[in-house]
Amino acid sequence: MEYSGPTSLYIDGDWVAAASDETIETRDPATEAPYAEVARAGEADVDAAVRAANSAGARGGEWETTSAAERGEKLRAMADAIEARKDEIALVESHDNGKTPFEAGMEVQMVVDTFRYYAGWTDKVTGEYNPVPGGRVNYTTREPLGVTGHIVPWNYPFQLAGRSLAPALACGNTAVVKPSSQTPLSALYYGLAAEEAGLPDGVVNVVPGSGSEAGSALASHPDVAHVTFTGSTEVGKGVMADAAATVTGVTLELGGKGPNVVFPDADLDAAAKGVHYGIFMNAGQMCWAGSRLLVHEDVADDLVERIVARAESTPLGSGIDDDGRMGPVVSESHREDVLEYISLGVEEGATIACGGGVPEDKETGYFVEPTVLTDVTNDMTVAREEIFGPVLVVTEFSDRTEAIELANDSPYGLLAGVWTEGLSRAHRVADALDYGMVSVNEYPVTFPQTPFGGTKQSGHGREQGAEAVREFTQAKNVNLNIG
Ligand code: NAD
Repeated sequence: MEYSGPTSLYIDGDWVAAASDETIETRDPATEAPYAEVARAGEADVDAAVRAANSAGARGGEWETTSAAERGEKLRAMADAIEARKDEIALVESHDNGKTPFEAGMEVQMVVDTFRYYAGWTDKVTGEYNPVPGGRVNYTTREPLGVTGHIVPWNYPFQLAGRSLAPALACGNTAVVKPSSQTPLSALYYGLAAEEAGLPDGVVNVVPGSGSEAGSALASHPDVAHVTFTGSTEVGKGVMADAAATVTGVTLELGGKGPNVVFPDADLDAAAKGVHYGIFMNAGQMCWAGSRLLVHEDVADDLVERIVARAESTPLGSGIDDDGRMGPVVSESHREDVLEYISLGVEEGATIACGGGVPEDKETGYFVEPTVLTDVTNDMTVAREEIFGPVLVVTEFSDRTEAIELANDSPYGLLAGVWTEGLSRAHRVADALDYGMVSVNEYPVTFPQTPFGGTKQSGHGREQGAEAVREFTQAKNVNLNIG
């Protein structure tokens, strides 16, 4: 399918070329062929987008004077507009990122659900009355922050932009979205949806561009009140430092090295299915990938055999194949990085149980075989660092204490999985895991209603649910002396 979607920047309700006239060429990771060319925002464009967002959200501005209920209607209309283009956006995402249309479809549906969920929040952001001494009335309200910046990675380009955009708008903020230059296309559809839903000009702006230029300009812009950054831990630290210069708030959603902890009483078929899905979905390019399998020694061989059987029968393909269940990784250089990690694992003593290279029948496309490495100890590089590809590392444990120690011995703390039929064990282990999210007998899973985020170097702050409403509002206390 040829790309026929938007190719310009979306600033202040207009579709415009970059001030520099520069463009970004994107390639389809499955065919390696050029797919689209879009405007490439630089510092001047980001500044124009922030200024537009600032005027739209200013006191007495159109967005500020839109009632909470009406804001909800606009968000619902955006959800409808996105849903109406669901298949188109999913296919674009599939060609831009390499994921299968099925995976891309789930991404778009999650965005529709998220906008509908936050549409219901707009008139429920309430304050509180404070019982202070004396003849006073004292209350606290929650106000919007102002201009919010959204810096988005390439692995879930549409969903991760929508995840923070929806609550930011619901709380009365305006937004500038900066998608990754590797996958700039789907975020532009937020411009179309905002137009179709009748949002005032400047409330939503979309500026695809490079991280070092457009991303950094957004994170350090003095008129941006809050930055939501989703991406790697290293870049996240830089964004935090940039934002610190203007004392701008940040939400950071960073990397992960999620463990799936499988106890001997688990339903092994269900565990094999969940572990397989948790590492090979999106070709393993997920912050919350279950990239470590921690399995009790009594069931390790049996479980690994079941996972390997599933991995070896996973059909590889993408937006151009109907039956693909795992796509290529995003680029040639990323494939090199993933293959290097596999070699390093073997050098450090791991055994390849399946995969380990480039599939023989895929001459084009940046495919990597679904790979399982056994005999991995927790000190090996492949157990500690985020590979961000279809590579599962397997470590055995002998009791619950060791399982918890291994799971928590990581610089990351995003999502952990527990597989057991024992109710009290499930609760006790979930309680002991130093992770922002724990899922029992299912992996991975999240909902617009539930907080998403991690501990340690996986991030700072939370997205989704009521938590995001706190992130995108600030408290204002009002005291009235009526005594
Ligand atoms: P990345 O950090 O390279 O880039 C993320 C975004 O930041 C891109 O838009 C990029 O252009 C921009 N950027 C790069 N340099 C910048 C700078 N100096 N200033 C401001 N912005 C800059 O990440 P990636 O390679 O696109 O994505 C993969 C990473 O994202 C993985 O580490 C993954 O774990 C993480 N991730 C985390 C979550 C989560 O919710 N925790 C979700 C998805 C991905």
